[in-house]
Amino acid sequence: MAYPHGSQDPPDRSSSGPYRRRWMPEGLRPFARTARRMLHPGPRLRRYRPESRLVVDQHLVPRAAFPAIDFHTHLGRWLTRDGSWMAPDVSELLALMDACNVATAVNLDGRWGAELEANLDRYDRAHPGRFVTFCHVDWKALEEEQQPDVLVKDLERSAAAGARGVKVWKDLGLEIRVGGRLLIPDDPMIDPVWEAAGSLGLPVLIHVGDPLAFFLLADERNERLEYLLAHPGVGQSRHGPSHFTRLMEALEAVVARHPATTFVGAHVGGFPEDLGWIARLMARYPNFYIDISAQAAELGRQPRAAARLCRAHPDRVLFGTDAFPLRAEDYHLYFRLLETDDEQFPYSSEPVPPSGRWAISGLGLDREILDRIYLRNARIVLGDVEDVGEGAGATR
Ligand SMILES: [Zn+2]
Repeated sequence: MAYPHGSQDPPDRSSSGPYRRRWMPEGLRPFARTARRMLHPGPRLRRYRPESRLVVDQHLVPRAAFPAIDFHTHLGRWLTRDGSWMAPDVSELLALMDACNVATAVNLDGRWGAELEANLDRYDRAHPGRFVTFCHVDWKALEEEQQPDVLVKDLERSAAAGARGVKVWKDLGLEIRVGGRLLIPDDPMIDPVWEAAGSLGLPVLIHVGDPLAFFLLADERNERLEYLLAHPGVGQSRHGPSHFTRLMEALEAVVARHPATTFVGAHVGGFPEDLGWIARLMARYPNFYIDISAQAAELGRQPRAAARLCRAHPDRVLFGTDAFPLRAEDYHLYFRLLETDDEQFPYSSEPVPPSGRWAISGLGLDREILDRIYLRNARIVLGDVEDVGEGAGATR
C-alpha cells in the first residue's frame, strides 16, 4: 500500500542544510559568535535544557512482572569497535538479567560459520535456556555468486549448528548491492532465503529502514534535526522518503509471500510513527510479529495508541531492548513503560534526548498482556511451546 508522506523526494542537499555554516573560514567563527551574542543577548535555544515542574506519580520497576525474554540483544563481536565481546563478562551479564527478572536474552549477533560457533559456545551451550543465538546471512556473497543457493546452504548449516533464528539487518534495502542495483527485501532473487528460513523453523527478525525522519531533509521541520546534526552520517535523505515507503511495502510483500515463515519486524516493524499501519499488517498477516526494541521514545509519546495496539494483538508483540551493552537502567525504563501509568518521564538520561525533546508516559498494560509480551509470545516464536492463542497461523 502506498503510504502518503505529503512530500516529494527532495533534491540532495544533505551537505548544505540550513544549519551548516561551512562556508565561514574557521578563523572568523569566534568573531561571528561574539557579534551574534552582542546583537542577540540572552539565553540561546541550542543550550535550552528545560526542567519539568510537573509533580506526578513515579513508579520505578526494577524487575519485570514475568520472567522476560529480551528478544533483541547484541552480545556478539561484530558491533564492537575492537572486535571484543559486547558482554565481556558473561557471569556479570547473568547477574544483571537475574536482578531484572530477564530469563533469556536473544543474541542477534551469531553471523555464520566460525563466528556462529563462538557465539553458541559462549552463550547457548554454556548457559542453556539463558541465551538463544540467531545467525545472519552474508548478503555480500550475492555480489560474487549472483545465486541465493549459497545463502540457503549457509542457513541450513547455521540451523544444524544450533542457530534459533535469522537476524536481517537494515543494510538489506539501504546498502547491499547486486550487479550495481540496491537489493530490496522483496527482490524475488532472495525468495528462496525466506522460504528456507520457514522450512528450517527459523523465525526471521528483520530490521527494515530507519526512522522516517532520517529520509527527510534535515531542515527546520525535521523532528530528528538535533540528532541528524549531531550525527551527520546517519541521514538517508539521499534516498528520499519514497524509498522509506518502498521499504515498508517490501516488508509487507515479503511477509505476504511467505506465510509459512515467521517474521518479527524489529523496532515496531520499523514504523512506530504509524501504529495504524503496523496494526493493519498484524491484522492481515498472522505470521507477522513486532518487537518493541529501541522504541520506548516512540511508543511512550503515544501511550494510548501503543496500548491499543498491544491489546488488539496481544499475541504478536515481543519485548526487546536493543540496548548494547545491556544496562539495568534500560530494563527499568522498558518495564516502567509497559507496566505503569506514569506520565511524562524521561526516556533517556542524555541532556538532549536522541529521539527528540519529549518525555514519555506508560502504557499501563494488564498482567495477562504483560505475560504474553514478556514471555509467552517469544516462546511461541522460538518454537518452545505450541501456540494455543488466536492468530496463530504460522508458528511451527
Ligand atoms: Zn539491534
